[in-house]
Amino acid sequence: MSTLPITFEDVAAAHERLRGVAHHTPVLTSRTANERTGAQLFFKCENLQRMGAFKFRGAYNAIAQFTPEQKGGGVITFSSGNHAQAIALSARLLGVKAVIVMPHDAPSVKVEATRGYGGEIVFYDRYTEDREALGQRLAAERGLTLIPPYDHPHVMAGQGTAAKELFEETGELDLLLTPLGGGGLLSGCATAAHALAPACTVIGVEPEAGNDGQRSLQSGEIVHIDTPKTLADGAQTQHLGNYTFAVIRERVSEIVTVSDAELVETMKFFASRMKLVVEPTGCLAAAAVLHGKVDVRGKRVGVLISGGNVDLLRFAELVQAAG
Ligand SMILES: *Cc1c(COP(=O)(O)O)cnc(C)c1O
Repeated sequence: MSTLPITFEDVAAAHERLRGVAHHTPVLTSRTANERTGAQLFFKCENLQRMGAFKFRGAYNAIAQFTPEQKGGGVITFSSGNHAQAIALSARLLGVKAVIVMPHDAPSVKVEATRGYGGEIVFYDRYTEDREALGQRLAAERGLTLIPPYDHPHVMAGQGTAAKELFEETGELDLLLTPLGGGGLLSGCATAAHALAPACTVIGVEPEAGNDGQRSLQSGEIVHIDTPKTLADGAQTQHLGNYTFAVIRERVSEIVTVSDAELVETMKFFASRMKLVVEPTGCLAAAAVLHGKVDVRGKRVGVLISGGNVDLLRFAELVQAAG
């Protein structure tokens, strides 16, 4: 038996740490979606999680396990998306200083949200500076602990608690689909599925423009690509992580892709039919189900909605353009 970077015990321990801190998000159903697909769909709504995405789970689980020395030093990350806000909020709740490295042309809503949670922002030039190198230099100079957005066992275990909650509510499922970027969410959820619903098939969904995960699973090696052009900004990763891929290759059956147009149609579906605001990346798994990328007919299917952080004006524009 191979040893994987995380076990179900790690997910269960993360769930204990998050008790009373993370929201136990609702699982919603839709008669319309069930009729459209011929399946019984269970939507796990992490768009309603604290700070608007599942990323709070992993970030909090990682910082909560800092040694007293690490807590005194502070945390740093170089992601500008939902992970930045998750780190800033988790750090504040745990009384730890947070430094976030962001490109100086990052959307102002993200900068403000991160600042609002008390994070110190260090700007860099995305065309001339390497954010990873800068993050590592700052970490060393200022005694900060670096928590990356996905390739870290504590982050992965935290993300898996979303699926643990889902299975505890629905019981056995035939299929579970989650969005896929760097694989923190998918690897954590697949670990929970393996323990709680061993017969459940786990599928990752990534943007068509960046199918590195699909190619990695097929070839057995991590495939690197250029930053893909897609509306799914939370899944614009260039490659899976070493830890996440080790779990994905063992526990995930298939990776499918969806187009940006399918993501927008799904955003519109959620808004009009289920009264949910879901960001493009958050729609990946649902788009695969609603657009027939996976055979779901007659099955009980878990669908992870990963986040809802989208500028409202942008949301309106996208939905309107979809007609
Ligand atoms: C980060 C993110 C993802 C991708 O998660 P990974 O763990 O990198 O695979 C999907 N959806 C949203 C909303 C995210 O913020």
